Amino acid sequence: MDKDFRYVWHPFTQMQDYQEHEPLIVERGEGVMLYDVDGRAYYDSVASIWTNTLGHAHPALTDAIIKQAQLVSHSTLLGHANVPSILLAEQIVDIAPEGLSHVFFCDSGAEAVEIALKMAYQYWQLKGRPEKKRFVKFVEAYHGDTIGAVSVGAMERFHETYRDMLFETFEVPYPYCYRCPLGLSPLTCAHACMEELKTLLAEKADRIAGVILEPVQGSSGIIPMPDDYLREIEALCKKNDVLLIVDEVATGFGRTGEMFASDHDGVKPDLMTIGKGLTGGYLPVAAALATDEIYEAFLGTYDSNKTFYHGHTFTGNQLGCAVALENLRLFKEERVIEHVQDVASYVAGRLQQFWDLPAVGDIRQKGLFVGIELVRDRATREPFAFEERIGWHVGNRCRENGMIMRPLGSVCLFIPPLIVTKEQAGAMLDILYRSIKEETRERMGGHLR
Ligand code: PMP
Repeated sequence: MDKDFRYVWHPFTQMQDYQEHEPLIVERGEGVMLYDVDGRAYYDSVASIWTNTLGHAHPALTDAIIKQAQLVSHSTLLGHANVPSILLAEQIVDIAPEGLSHVFFCDSGAEAVEIALKMAYQYWQLKGRPEKKRFVKFVEAYHGDTIGAVSVGAMERFHETYRDMLFETFEVPYPYCYRCPLGLSPLTCAHACMEELKTLLAEKADRIAGVILEPVQGSSGIIPMPDDYLREIEALCKKNDVLLIVDEVATGFGRTGEMFASDHDGVKPDLMTIGKGLTGGYLPVAAALATDEIYEAFLGTYDSNKTFYHGHTFTGNQLGCAVALENLRLFKEERVIEHVQDVASYVAGRLQQFWDLPAVGDIRQKGLFVGIELVRDRATREPFAFEERIGWHVGNRCRENGMIMRPLGSVCLFIPPLIVTKEQAGAMLDILYRSIKEETRERMGGHLR
């Protein structure tokens, strides 16, 4: 513990504050459980940063890594090829929305976003339209924490500090109808938000390379787009000759109840980013997928402009690709998507119970991607003050009650490994319910009946 405080600088963490509390040092996992160095057990209700699909220490996934390690562990993709990355690319194209037929491997979701942005930007140059170089982003979007990804992100809290380092973008409202960014009622919010995008594209498409979005905004609080909304955006992009970049880093690989969130609306993005669940969360592999149309712009006679200048040292790492292949094989064999749909409908029923808690303002669910927004006053939707750190306190209660739950501000999350059983999901939701109740009873006092 002392050495953790002394040497490790933790991500997205105020270290002074961190050092004032006992750290949870995770040592091992099994299925949906994690165990700390003292042997205490915790349900992993957020799938280790939303990545875990088939559970921790899965024997087949572990074996896939070991077998590959006995052959070779390194990438070799810069300049050469490797078997796991070839097989994996084929598998990914097979399950991806129609039209996405080329896979560019990388190491993280943020990098996949950088790649998609650079591809879109360069594509228009190769098409002889270099003035199409701006991106449209959504209010409160999160696409990762590197500078390009932050530029197309719009979370005040995370991004404000770096504002002067970022490139210019156009920003449109996202249909967060519970708190409409345009100040409208939930009934009119989504339509009005769409109108803003429509107007922007109609006026400025000749300067716009692409629209980038999360089909369910994740880091801003698990906010699904209304049904058909993505399809409408797709049509607008087509009409205005603007690329549609769908960031499925969080939503991909079954999380929302379909292989990709785009599949709910039958949307075919021009570029798509994936990461997190690709390897079952085991190793850092991500990718950007592109259509033939985009890929072919980079073909033709040898010309330095046609090189895509990107490729990190570990791109297409063989250990990562091998475990991803096994993850996808098991997805099919164990019918993981059907399982998610089944457990998700059970969870939907169980979530109704949370309305008994006066601090619950909104419950949002898409598959096993669930956010419960806590408010000081349900009727007025008055939020808890940021300084109250309500989500963080509920997270601490969860930990005392045997569960890991990393919240997003005032939004409590339920994003379990996809193989969670109904019984386990029920046990986790019980802990979450109890933890919210314990924490808000003390805080809301008079508000509680
Ligand atoms: N895009 C989305 C939609 C995400 O949710 C995240 C991470 N939460 C990222 C990109 C960044 O992924 P990574 O942390 O692997 O860089």
